[in-house]
Amino acid sequence: MHMHKIISPYTEITFCHKQLRESLQAKCNVEQSVLITDAMIAELYPALFEGYKTIVLPTGEDQKSLTVLESVVSQLIEAKAHRNTFLIGIGGGTITDITGFVASIYMRGISFGFVPTTLLCMVDAAIGGKNGVNFGLQKNFLGTIRQPKFILCNTLFFGTLPDNEWSNGFAEIIKYACLFDEPLFDELLLNDIAFYKKYRDTLEDLIHRCINWKNKIVIEDEREISSRKLLNFGHTVGHAIEMIYNTPHGHAVSLGMIIACALSERVTGLNEKTTGQLVHLLQKYNLPTNLFFDTKSIMNVLKMDKKRNDNSIDFIILENNGQPKIKQLPFDIIEQILESFSYASYN
Ligand code: NAD
Ligand code: ZN
Repeated sequence: MHMHKIISPYTEITFCHKQLRESLQAKCNVEQSVLITDAMIAELYPALFEGYKTIVLPTGEDQKSLTVLESVVSQLIEAKAHRNTFLIGIGGGTITDITGFVASIYMRGISFGFVPTTLLCMVDAAIGGKNGVNFGLQKNFLGTIRQPKFILCNTLFFGTLPDNEWSNGFAEIIKYACLFDEPLFDELLLNDIAFYKKYRDTLEDLIHRCINWKNKIVIEDEREISSRKLLNFGHTVGHAIEMIYNTPHGHAVSLGMIIACALSERVTGLNEKTTGQLVHLLQKYNLPTNLFFDTKSIMNVLKMDKKRNDNSIDFIILENNGQPKIKQLPFDIIEQILESFSYASYN
């Protein structure tokens, strides 16, 4: 294995190649921990949870709600969780978001750690301490920034990961490539999901590289005052699509990145070839590049977005591949682009 060290002042991020149960036990003792997971992981990996107090939630993004949060708090009280109890979220981004948020507010905050089981969660959702739930059509509208004590990565979980979830993870990987890493963009163009599934070392190198990008930005700007905003590339329109059309997160981000490029063409003069290349790359990783959407519905959600000002919104655009920029864009320009985009063909 090629091991790279990931250094974070907040969180111990480690890769483990031991069996799953063994690696979990090394991190959290049975008496002091409560595990939170979803029904799919509980069913696929029953041995992992033996002996631990475990809260099992149904699968799906709609679990990220205040109602579910209340039920988790009740179950924690029932499990006699106190201020020294350690919460561990084992699952994808849905589970780590809920676990991190509940741990941040339970008795004014208890310690927590994550065991990501999806590619998306490993390269993105588990890192950085932003955890929250949705409210109405607004994604992650209620939340906190509080860092996990540890993130334990183990690619053994990928043995059961459905194809669709591989694609979702690659949407965030492609996001890092567009923002910061042109050589990665080129590498991704040469490979595909089947390749990374086959060569586990190369996959782990890829995951390390993405964790390093996110970790670097989080260290620089934990509170999202400056550079952390860049990570929202593809996510402004993406989140609206995700909430209105119930699209998986990575799929929505894929569409959001294309729209952000279309906007960049108009605002910064981004070369349309760059947009074309991105579309090609996304298709290579089985991500959607076309959707019939209703501009008005999307605009209504954007006008309530966390990043909005009075008549504009902070939008991440590209000047070139690998050169992102934060720009305050008036809503009417975004609306025009969305309108024209519904007719554009990116096949
Ligand atoms: P998810 O957690 O909903 O998991 C997707 C599906 O895969 C679920 O049905 C789950 O049961 C299943 N699954 C998980 N691991 C599996 C495995 N090893 N084998 C088989 N099935 C498995 O989705 P996700 O894509 O991991 O996360 C998406 C969420 O993450 C969104 O809510 C998004 O907002 C959030 N997110 C948060 C951040 C952040 O910084 N906090 C960053 C990116 C995304
Ligand atoms: Zn995302």
